[in-house]
Amino acid sequence: MLMTAQEYEESLRKLRLNVYMFGQKLDNVVDNPIIRPSMNAVAKTYELAHRPEHSAIMTAKSHITGKTINRFVHIHQSIDDLVKKTRMGRLLGGATGCCFQRCVGMDSLNALSMTTFDIDAAHGTEYYRRFLRYLEYVQKNDLTCDGAMTDPKGDRSLLPHKQKDPDLYLHVVERLPGGIVVRGAKAHQTGAVNSHEIIVMPTISMREPDRDYAVSFALPSDAEGITYIIGRQSCDTRKLEEGTVDRGNALFGGHEALVVFDNVFVPNERVFMLGEYEFAGHLVERFASYHRQSYACKVGVGDVLIGAAQLAAEYNGVDRASHIKDKIVEMNHLNESLFCGSLACAASGHREPSGTYYVNALLANVFKQNVTRFPFEIARLAQDIAGGLMATLPSEQDFRSPVTGGLLKKYFKARDDVPVEHRVRVLRLIENITLGTAAVGYLTESMHGAGSPQAQRIMISRLANMEEKKRRARLLCGIDENE
Ligand code: SF4
Ligand code: FE
Repeated sequence: MLMTAQEYEESLRKLRLNVYMFGQKLDNVVDNPIIRPSMNAVAKTYELAHRPEHSAIMTAKSHITGKTINRFVHIHQSIDDLVKKTRMGRLLGGATGCCFQRCVGMDSLNALSMTTFDIDAAHGTEYYRRFLRYLEYVQKNDLTCDGAMTDPKGDRSLLPHKQKDPDLYLHVVERLPGGIVVRGAKAHQTGAVNSHEIIVMPTISMREPDRDYAVSFALPSDAEGITYIIGRQSCDTRKLEEGTVDRGNALFGGHEALVVFDNVFVPNERVFMLGEYEFAGHLVERFASYHRQSYACKVGVGDVLIGAAQLAAEYNGVDRASHIKDKIVEMNHLNESLFCGSLACAASGHREPSGTYYVNALLANVFKQNVTRFPFEIARLAQDIAGGLMATLPSEQDFRSPVTGGLLKKYFKARDDVPVEHRVRVLRLIENITLGTAAVGYLTESMHGAGSPQAQRIMISRLANMEEKKRRARLLCGIDENE
């Protein structure tokens, strides 16, 4: 089934989530003015799947039922699927100008499709069958899943079981005949309260003493014992103000939350790893590589930012200056270089024993490493072109005031044929993406989402085939390996 955006919104209304923000419990999450823009962004993933011009990218054929499904709940069956996933990320980043949140669930499902298969092959367990049954449920109902990996981690020098507070990594506290009881938390959960399901995975490689921490499972997002505490974003309360100008992006945004699991029961049918500690790193690595590919979303947000910078230059009458043109070229060069990286790791992917197609992990990590850098340079150039007014503009209320409005419209007039409000709106959009609420999604998330820069460098050092490189060097300069 393909849900419509409207059906998605209605489905969220039925959830009984336990959500806190600004010290208050939220009775109505869907209509909350701070959360709603993030719901709108996820709703785009449903809306575009119904548009004929986007259906090739936004939909796929389920390998378990043969039915048409949203690509966000699909298990990649070919290189073409992986390439389309990259294109889908750029499409949605450009349509929303922010994080549209649904990729974490897609990446968790794909990673689990491989890891559950591989655990079964090693241990004779039945995780893959459980996973497929769960997948069928997710596909049938076109659900949004939150992929929950990052534990709070406490003292970083200590292993999970050595932490003074054992809950700083999520773990199993009780094993019952029908299921398990878990306790702990997951931090920075993108789109958590816009999700129907939450898929939990371990956050690091583990050894035997941490076996109770080697656990993966899925729960409905409103399961008993789960609490969400929404994170602040700079300028978030602007969404409570009248008018849309100062928001920059009038419709869309993202959100993150701390998700706490307080003795939550998980039935066996929804458990996908339980104590197979040697597969914790396997799952982390696969999810991380898929999610690093997903950062094609930033290319789409980059498209919006480059467009905004060009408009700001045109509105100021400086777009013909050679240094402005060159800065726009540089921004495009960086943004398309990012696109190349995401496409490359998709195009050089391969089939795993489970049948799932997996990205080239080395290239996915190289791509994400570039994502920790290039958007910052693109943002710097956008701010250079925008000028200081982006950060010193008076409020929309001052523009509307009978006392100050006339003065502001007189002194902030630039090109005669451009309304002052257009100039203000585009500067507010650049502010939103480089300093405001979307900056979480464009800059901080580029830095730390899908793993901080050092995590990619560790993977690059592991995956680069140094022996082969040395062999080639020896061969060409005449060194005999056996001498
Ligand atoms: Fe998807 Fe990008 Fe948001 Fe991650 S940061 S959930 S890849 S849109
Ligand atoms: Fe992310």
